[in-house]
Amino acid sequence: TEIFRPERENSRGWDLAHRPELDALETARDGYRDTVFTAAPLIAGDTPPGPEVQTTNPALPSDTVGRVRNASADDVQTALAAATPWTASPSERAAVLKRAAALYEDHHARLFAILAREAGKSLPDAVGELREAADFLLYYAEQAEGLTRPPRGIFTCISPWNFPLAIFTGQIAGALAAGNGVLAKPAEQTPLIGHAAIELLHEAGVPREVLQFLPGDGPTVGAALTSDPRVDGVAFTGSTETAQAIRRAMADHLSPDAPLIAETGGINAMIVDSTALPEQAVRDIVASAFQSAGQRCSALRCLYVQEDIAPAFRKMLFGAMDELRMGDPWHLSTDVGPVIDAEARDGIADYLAAAGGRVLHGLTAPQDGLFIAPSVVEVGGIRDIEREVFGPVLHLATFRPNQLDQVLADIRETGFGLTFGLHTRIDDRVQYVTERLAVGNAYVNRNQIGAIVASQPFGGEGLSGTGPKAGGPEYVARFTQPEPVATAS
Ligand code: GLU
Repeated sequence: TEIFRPERENSRGWDLAHRPELDALETARDGYRDTVFTAAPLIAGDTPPGPEVQTTNPALPSDTVGRVRNASADDVQTALAAATPWTASPSERAAVLKRAAALYEDHHARLFAILAREAGKSLPDAVGELREAADFLLYYAEQAEGLTRPPRGIFTCISPWNFPLAIFTGQIAGALAAGNGVLAKPAEQTPLIGHAAIELLHEAGVPREVLQFLPGDGPTVGAALTSDPRVDGVAFTGSTETAQAIRRAMADHLSPDAPLIAETGGINAMIVDSTALPEQAVRDIVASAFQSAGQRCSALRCLYVQEDIAPAFRKMLFGAMDELRMGDPWHLSTDVGPVIDAEARDGIADYLAAAGGRVLHGLTAPQDGLFIAPSVVEVGGIRDIEREVFGPVLHLATFRPNQLDQVLADIRETGFGLTFGLHTRIDDRVQYVTERLAVGNAYVNRNQIGAIVASQPFGGEGLSGTGPKAGGPEYVARFTQPEPVATAS
């Protein structure tokens, strides 16, 4: 596999192990504990006032986080009519994107507060997310500087609620770096952080008609922005089913050359063999399956433990799970925050209820707020998992050494290929296993979440995405016109 070693440095982030830095961060963020934030369309043109909805904190139902005015069908048409590519030179665009990265960092306390209260992000998760957003801006700015090909035109960017700042920013920064105009639709659950980010991008110097913001639902906003011939391409992160619906809409209405850059789901596996170091593997499993309440598309869903170590290993894993604290992610003592909304909570709760006696281990969730307790469900193998369960639910299977090839075949058979983890101390096994799988990101003897921009480009194969990988060297180029085809005279 290739290893990218960029000369540019990633954002430094914040050191939560450094007491003075942590204290300053928490004090600054506390200033936004009760702020009621707002979101509304940011478009180049008139947007008449419309009805507002209140949004609440998934961890604390009594906490009103914001007031949101969604885009109307008219707003979408106004934005489409005003949309224009960014005519600034590549170096001017790069300078603006770099300025935006600095502005994101300057406003970190407010952004961390919105991430916690709107999206249920713990402070470590929020720090990682802001760093990643800044890194996307800086890395794609650098790629803009070397571009020679023109932009495609106008891109629609549709982002998910689980990385409502990092992925939201990454898609937009990729499209802008190449010189496109952008119509950005945040996830319905997370318009407040999207609004804050767009304001900072405008402040950095992205013209308002080049970058427009349209919060709202899929039928009103998403469908219109993926089926209008004025749109030249779509960047989407979310479910495989929605990506397929977008592809159909694009095929019916957009130019046949319009690209869909999609990052979708996965049923990610990890294999732990009997040579693995159990303490290390348990730590990495807990992080991979339960950090961010399992709401990462990279998260571990199906763990295979070699049969002869399984009883002792299970005991260690369940012991580590018992130490996890659920609650308000505002507090650093919280390990597992809420899931995003009532629909997610009910869907996962129903799944666990249906699993019944196969739930081997579960904790008790707090009553108030939208919590799902980290749980382990016994399965015969990955084939028994019918769908991606987007929460803190880990499936556990065992295997005998002579079944390894079958396990690998079953993982391939899912058709997904996002992340994969392997814990082993047998060197040859690393190559043997990874060359039999088709996954975007394979991690050995570590956790399988938290890809780093530029060093670990992130994205899946098969049903998990179209590529190019986010934070990789080919991402921005995909937003430009393809190489002209030479014709003989
Ligand atoms: N890039 C994130 C990670 O490596 C996952 C992105 C996602 O969940 O969509 O954990």
